[in-house]
Amino acid sequence: MAKDIKCPKCEVKMEVSKIGTVETDRCPSCGGIWVDRAEEKEALDMKPAVFTVDDLRNLRKIYKPLGRVEKVKYFKCPRCGKFMWRKNYMHHSGIIVDKCADCGTFFDKGELEKAAEFIKKGGSEYEKLQIAERGIAETQTKIDRELTRVECTMYRLHWVGRFLSMIGF
Ligand SMILES: [Zn+2]
Ligand SMILES: [Zn+2]
Repeated sequence: MAKDIKCPKCEVKMEVSKIGTVETDRCPSCGGIWVDRAEEKEALDMKPAVFTVDDLRNLRKIYKPLGRVEKVKYFKCPRCGKFMWRKNYMHHSGIIVDKCADCGTFFDKGELEKAAEFIKKGGSEYEKLQIAERGIAETQTKIDRELTRVECTMYRLHWVGRFLSMIGF
């Protein structure tokens, strides 16, 4: 994949830049880095790691806001020429990247390092925690709703009982 590509933002020819053993393309003008999809895991040093729930919850304190961004397409993929999606990297990092689903990701200057840091702190696992906690919250709401219903019924029965005893049952 060592074909010359142009920076999607400046249209300047990018230069090969090595991150460890991975070849990426760096723009000499803006400092942005293009990482091919196949090389993303290695370039960002994504290794299987175990994180505790507390580790992941801590991410909320470090990365604010852990929100999402509106999906907009601005720049063309330097490989296939299709418009890339502007995305919050790993959904919650707050690091905005331009991503081609087929070819790879363009990181603005300094963003690749930030993304690697996010992953190192458990960022790739954070989504799972979010989903799990959302599930728990939903179950809790369901239980609360059920309990309210039961309470209402008991209350009603109580009054029916009072009424029956009043009329001499
Ligand atoms: Zn550039
Ligand atoms: Zn592409």
